Amino acid sequence: MDEIIFPYELNDGYYAKVKYFGDEFIEYSQRFNFKSDEESLEALCIGIYWYLYGTTALDLNSNIHQALANLAEYRRAFPEDKPFIDELRGKLLTKFLFRPYKKNNEKLTKENLDLLINFLEATGDYIDQIPHFRDFTHDLDDCIGLTKWFCKNSGKYLGEYTSSLEKYLENNGTAHLMEEDVIFYHGHELEYHLNMLGAEIMNRLYRDDYDKRPRKAILLPSCMNANNKRCRAKEERLGHVCTFCNPKCNVYKIAERYPNNEVYIISHESTAFKGARKQDKDELGIIGVTCVLNLISGGWKSKNLSIPPQCVLLEHIACKNHWLNEDIYGEINLDELNLKI
Ligand code: SF4
Repeated sequence: MDEIIFPYELNDGYYAKVKYFGDEFIEYSQRFNFKSDEESLEALCIGIYWYLYGTTALDLNSNIHQALANLAEYRRAFPEDKPFIDELRGKLLTKFLFRPYKKNNEKLTKENLDLLINFLEATGDYIDQIPHFRDFTHDLDDCIGLTKWFCKNSGKYLGEYTSSLEKYLENNGTAHLMEEDVIFYHGHELEYHLNMLGAEIMNRLYRDDYDKRPRKAILLPSCMNANNKRCRAKEERLGHVCTFCNPKCNVYKIAERYPNNEVYIISHESTAFKGARKQDKDELGIIGVTCVLNLISGGWKSKNLSIPPQCVLLEHIACKNHWLNEDIYGEINLDELNLKI
């Protein structure tokens, strides 16, 4: 097989590096008097999205926003209609929202934040983040101050993990045009770094609540199955459960290593926890394993459901749904999982 170029790839030093960066971020953000580290993270997300998407957001026609937001909502409610909804969304997203980065000179005002939220809503990719931005009340100038610092510093700590991103996107230049994941797939390096830092901050924020929960579940993406098509996992209320059909499978190894924990295979982040009942929400803490660009959405999705999360990253992307020509096995750092559990 040819050498695979990944948009991001971790190594053994990653978790120490992101911790240093997390410490620096928290120290720097203290000058803005945010009411919590969560508010600092919200401010940074707003600033980065404004920096990357502000120009397109200001241009977005309100009818197109509404149509795309409705389609995204419809897709979540009726997943069985995904094929034809996604085809339409792909065309509209590519035509109206997918633009090359253009410097944004406009001031971030409350009205402009509303337009940015409309853009994010239209993409369908930020649904679990949006409530945090709607409720944001801190001075918006501080989002920009924090973003400037982040843009200057994130590469120093995290640049080595995304050093192939440009080449990866160049090699796959027109890939995913007219597809519903066009915005997600072409994510900017800053979004990778934002999600890495976001996961680190969330791990700190939610650790105490997570520790108090009597049930700990590990949620694994389906790319960690040894063979997706032949997987014999059984469907249960909270996800698919491994039946130990193949000792080489990474899910098998994790399920065997943690017999006292629930382990679920989740086929798509949007369907995670769909079957959760009140008792689950009261008792569960989860360790979510996912690829980088889903980290903040996944963390806030879990938090919005009152289930405290911890995150562990896939070492690299692995599925052909979004990223590769062939599925390969998703892997994680098992020492990090052990620390989190
Ligand atoms: S070992 Fe478990 S997760 Fe892996 S393929 Fe078999 S049933 Fe699926």
